[in-house]
Amino acid sequence: MKIIGILGGMSAASTQIYYRQICHLARERLGGLHSPELLIRSLDFARIEALQVAGAWDQAGDILNREARALERGGADFLVLATNTMHKLAAPMMAGVGIPLLHIADATAAAISQRGLRAPGLMATAFTMEQSFYTDRLRAAGLAPLIPDAADRATTHRIIYDELCCDITTPASEAAYIAIAQRLVERGADSLILGCTEVGMLLDQGKVSVPVFDTTLIHCDAAIAQALA
Ligand code: GLU
Repeated sequence: MKIIGILGGMSAASTQIYYRQICHLARERLGGLHSPELLIRSLDFARIEALQVAGAWDQAGDILNREARALERGGADFLVLATNTMHKLAAPMMAGVGIPLLHIADATAAAISQRGLRAPGLMATAFTMEQSFYTDRLRAAGLAPLIPDAADRATTHRIIYDELCCDITTPASEAAYIAIAQRLVERGADSLILGCTEVGMLLDQGKVSVPVFDTTLIHCDAAIAQALA
């Protein structure tokens, strides 16, 4: 079994889901007392979020690079960056790192394409929805992503940072997310990407009328597959 190096804490709420889900998958695949071999480096998200808001991406990239190198030195065979947004910095993070990164958007695009779908709605942070680093990656994989309108993007983003990253879920926010997902479907989305690793705290397949792709769960599946390959 390969050692998975998880760079997380962005936020800690979703990194806990990663650990639980990867443990669950390892038990499911291997049975008995099996558990995954992994390292988790969990950062203080307040520091990272401040850099995001300040647009200090170079500084954030330096931090991710330092931590990726530490995970490599610690024995990780490959890296899982447990946030969609910070994949904006995948290139600087991996500079000089000798082990591969399991890219969350590639794993997600592959899962969608395998189901024969093409036009996923994308619910994520404003960074992920509005900048091109993520949607371009989906387009390069042959998909035509659809993002919410400005008001829905603002609501989606606010709930992520003010609530989900603080481990808060409310019925009102769940209803808001269901309505945003429905509006994307009405505009032609044939599927929905939960494109932030916390969005699955509020949405799942039972609440949406098109196939749902939870990036956290997809990333965990891909991580276990790579660890056991
Ligand atoms: N976990 C989130 C994501 O998947 C948002 C927090 C962050 O900015 O890293 O994008």
